[in-house]
Amino acid sequence: MKKETKEKCEVCGCSDNNPCKGGCSWERPNLCSKCVSKNKGVEDIFGLREEYLPPNAHIFDFPCELGYHCPVCKYEPIIDGNYDERLEWSEYSCFIWCSVCNKDYPSALCMPDIERAVDIYLTSTKEAINRAKKIPRNEFEKKNLTPQNE
Ligand SMILES: [Zn+2]
Ligand SMILES: [Zn+2]
Ligand SMILES: [Zn+2]
Repeated sequence: MKKETKEKCEVCGCSDNNPCKGGCSWERPNLCSKCVSKNKGVEDIFGLREEYLPPNAHIFDFPCELGYHCPVCKYEPIIDGNYDERLEWSEYSCFIWCSVCNKDYPSALCMPDIERAVDIYLTSTKEAINRAKKIPRNEFEKKNLTPQNE
C-alpha cells in the first residue's frame, strides 16, 4: 500500500521540501500555484478579474452558493448540507475555475439553469465588448500621470 503523507504537485512533482523555482504555494492538495491552469486567450479577451475590482475587494459568495456547477465533473452540489466547493472564481473575469479539473470555464457554461446561463452569457459578452473599447491599461496609466482635462 502506498502511503501518501507528503503533499506533492501532481503536475510538476514539487513538494514543500522541493518547491518550484521562485517559490509556490498550494492551490489545493496536489496542485501548486505554478501549475494552476492558464489561458492566454481568455486573458486577451476578458482580462483578469482584478482589473475590474477595486483593491482589497473580496467576493464573499463561493460560485457554488450562487448555483454554479462544473460542466465536466459529475457530483452532487450539496453533500450532507455542505456545498461542494471545487469551483472558485477564476483569475480571469467572466470565468470560473474548477479545482478538480484545473481548468477555467466560461461562467455561463457552469450555470445549469439555462435562463440564468443566457443572462450570464450576455453579461460576459458585454464586458468583453466594453473592455475592447477601452484604452489599454498601460496607456491609461500614462495618461493619468499628466493631467489633461484642463
Ligand atoms: Zn506544480
Ligand atoms: Zn510548485
Ligand atoms: Zn470540474
